[in-house]
Amino acid sequence: MLKCEPNYNLWFGDGESFKLSSDTAVMKREIEKWEGKEGFQRYLAWLSEAHAHYEISVTEILHKNFSSLLSFFDRNLLRNLRKLHAFESIYSRASRYFYTERLRRVFTFGSMYMGMSPFDAPGTYSLLQYTELAEGIWYPVGGFHAIVVALIKVGERLGVKYCLNTPVSSVAVSSDGKTATGVVLESGEMLSADIVVVNADLVYAYNNLFPSSQWLSTDKKSSLSSSLPSGSSSYAKSLSKRAGSCSSISFYWALSKKIPQLETHNIFLADSYKESFDAIFKRRSIPDEPSFYINVPSRIDPSAAPEGCDSIVVLVPVGHLLKSRTNSDPKNLSNGNLGVINGRGIEKELGLESDQDWDKAVIKARQKIISTISTRLSLPPFFLSSSIIHEDINTPQSWESTFNLDKGSILGLSHNFFNVLAFRPGIRHKALKGAYFVGASTHPGTGVPIVLAGAKMTAEAILGDLGMQVPWSGWEDVANDRGVRQGKGTKAIDRVQITGWWSYFQGALLGLLLLFIGMLCQIFDGLLVASSGS
Ligand SMILES: Cc1cc2nc3c(=O)[nH]c(=O)nc-3n(C[C@H](O)[C@H](O)[C@H](O)COP(=O)(O)OP(=O)(O)OC[C@H]3O[C@@H](n4cnc5c(N)ncnc54)[C@H](O)[C@@H]3O)c2cc1C
Repeated sequence: MLKCEPNYNLWFGDGESFKLSSDTAVMKREIEKWEGKEGFQRYLAWLSEAHAHYEISVTEILHKNFSSLLSFFDRNLLRNLRKLHAFESIYSRASRYFYTERLRRVFTFGSMYMGMSPFDAPGTYSLLQYTELAEGIWYPVGGFHAIVVALIKVGERLGVKYCLNTPVSSVAVSSDGKTATGVVLESGEMLSADIVVVNADLVYAYNNLFPSSQWLSTDKKSSLSSSLPSGSSSYAKSLSKRAGSCSSISFYWALSKKIPQLETHNIFLADSYKESFDAIFKRRSIPDEPSFYINVPSRIDPSAAPEGCDSIVVLVPVGHLLKSRTNSDPKNLSNGNLGVINGRGIEKELGLESDQDWDKAVIKARQKIISTISTRLSLPPFFLSSSIIHEDINTPQSWESTFNLDKGSILGLSHNFFNVLAFRPGIRHKALKGAYFVGASTHPGTGVPIVLAGAKMTAEAILGDLGMQVPWSGWEDVANDRGVRQGKGTKAIDRVQITGWWSYFQGALLGLLLLFIGMLCQIFDGLLVASSGS
């Protein structure tokens, strides 16, 4: 793993930039430039609040399964709820600590990691930027895929057999419709299983992979969905209506030249900051002036591009599709394959149709990005556009059609208050025994580390349901790391000694003593003056 330094470079429209770093000396310099010494002190206070958000979330949320609304009545969670600032936006929280609009933007854009606007995302999510500032950003050599390869190796060591490029068309259920019994592949092959864990996007899965799904042939549908517990398909439909995270237009560019001004991670922030989020989250479109993220893996990893060249990923957050293909005309869908996005009626109703012309949006985004990068980095005219020798693009439509992400929401369901904890779809299927979920749209939520923490929880739930021992129960939990173990064997130098009331008492005594001496000195001085006067 290689450490990215700085974490990011943020580029503003007025030609200024800001380096975000886990190096305190860099942060001190950067913050003091805009908000002075007090600004840095306020940054430390913000960091302390974000630290609490992170630690509480890790212990009280990330590793706990919120299987019902009753789980809200957890004593520890309730005790800490106030400290999580879940009912205030991340922007509003940051505004208490940062007094300039520039720094408010620097410390709030991170809500986009959750696919949410900083003006809506709960204050709790400052924990995301906190992890980067406290622990740094680390790059796995070989790119993110190196993590996937490492995970595959672990699985193979444990006897896992992977079937790649093998789409599943449905989850098979028992004749009484109560238990998952395996999966049916698109090839028609049936794989039997005691347990089915669905990693595909949960909203898509509920609507497409289980027997009440609309694409099943009529005979199959009538025989199975009649035996399915009622409510499972209405639940699937209700999931499609829930708020989704944003989508993106992403460009993957191979450049014939290097752009040395770009760091490994770069953010270009729109001047009309709030408006840029409103366009995405209120109008589900692409902002006129988008904020965007650029990753240059070749800046840190020479193997990511040939010598003298750069490889670049540009992510432009945009609104998700207005309608999932799940809810499109069933005639357009066959065996879970691509359907025609058929949301015209609703789009017109909302007056949003023209905003969702993705072909036009891609052209607009490409032009805007190239001109913004060129202006802010003072590149010669056509330098960037003429350097692009290969280009791949993802759009909301391709996120949905290639990866089955409902409405192309790249980070799954939204993470507003009514889509987290017990409100987020559970890791057990609502109605089927033996069917479980992992991934971004189930608890605890999106992002690779969070999804992995959720996968552990799902594994524990499965073992628990089967009455089996969880092999790692009893292992020391890193999340609860409390430093050196305290006990008889603890070295004197490591023994915890909390400075309690006694030292405050000593301090107060010392203060009183100094006051007393000061008063004596004054009296003495007065006497001296009086005697010299007489
Ligand atoms: C552009 C982008 C940038 C991101 N950057 C970061 C980042 O920097 N850090 C971070 O932590 N997170 C990041 N994320 C988020 C992260 O990638 C997701 O939260 C995470 O991958 C979700 O994991 P998952 O298991 O739910 O889904 P996925 O990783 O999407 O895995 C689901 C898999 O199921 C497959 N599948 C779907 N339907 C079927 C079917 N019918 N049959 C067989 N297979 C099927 C899909 O093809 C896919 O491979 C980013 C996401 C995007 C889109």
